[in-house]
Amino acid sequence: MITAVETYRSAEEAARALGGGGAIYLAGGTLVMAEVNANRTPPRLVRTVDPGLRQIVASSETIRLGAGVTMAQILASRDCAVLHDVARQIGGPQVRSMATVGGNLFARHPYGDLAVALLALGARVALAGQTSLRSLADLLRDRERPALVTQIEVPRPRGDRAFGFVKIARIHPRGASLLSIAAFLPREGSRMRGVRIAYGGMADRPIQAAAVERALEGAVLDEGTIARAVAVAAQGLEPPTDSLASAWYRREVVGVHLRRLLERLSRP
Ligand SMILES: Cc1cc2nc3c(=O)[nH]c(=O)nc-3n(C[C@H](O)[C@H](O)[C@H](O)COP(=O)(O)OP(=O)(O)OC[C@H]3O[C@@H](n4cnc5c(N)ncnc54)[C@H](O)[C@@H]3O)c2cc1C
Repeated sequence: MITAVETYRSAEEAARALGGGGAIYLAGGTLVMAEVNANRTPPRLVRTVDPGLRQIVASSETIRLGAGVTMAQILASRDCAVLHDVARQIGGPQVRSMATVGGNLFARHPYGDLAVALLALGARVALAGQTSLRSLADLLRDRERPALVTQIEVPRPRGDRAFGFVKIARIHPRGASLLSIAAFLPREGSRMRGVRIAYGGMADRPIQAAAVERALEGAVLDEGTIARAVAVAAQGLEPPTDSLASAWYRREVVGVHLRRLLERLSRP
């Protein structure tokens, strides 16, 4: 099948072109091009050269990433320091120079490491042609419905111990994650308020670990709290079995890695 690539000046025009169906949005192409080569895409690829999609705009409160910002751009930006550890662990240099933030939100398991971090940070997304922002959690729940993401707004965590990320892979340094955990632990005094814990590899898409969040919310991050959080690390979750790990293995090890991450974030 011959695939046609349509290029639009603005994200809104691209979104309109997608709206008619029979087309797929092309960002960095690290995943889409494999689908094209396997004849698994619709006959039309839609892209945009809208410069807004490549911009990073930072303020004291938020970082606003254009959906077309690449992992390499994140790594080159001091404003994005909070995301460096995550972006560094995505693929090799060639993948990072093409792979975009927007594409990562739609990447299927075992990919989507950045989406896990953004979910824990409470990111919100802007869609082409819409004025209000939507929570990333909401977008991830029904991401099968086509919508062109233009911006991702990331609240800045306060302090070094407010955010942490861990990726567990069999092949180092560039393997796909068999699971990943991102923890956002804002403190009010010594207590945690507004906790978000996100997992990758524990479902078919990045999800929040509600039972762990309940165990941590309002508590002091001490040994007892960590033990209570670890005890419910896999509660209510049905992780997949795939070539990287079985569901049983994921359930067994998620608590081990959660403990290490929480212990790291509990140290002064
Ligand atoms: C060798 C290799 C290693 C990799 N390693 C990792 C890894 O370690 N961790 C990881 O997380 N990922 C990894 N990936 C996956 C991938 O590179 C990234 O997840 C990447 O962010 C996808 O971005 P892209 O711009 O290339 O998306 P594309 O391939 O262009 O698109 C992917 C999907 O997202 C949709 N999409 C893209 N942008 C938007 C948007 N703005 N709005 C709506 N839909 C959109 C596309 O339509 C398509 O369905 C790897 C990929 C490869 C090939």
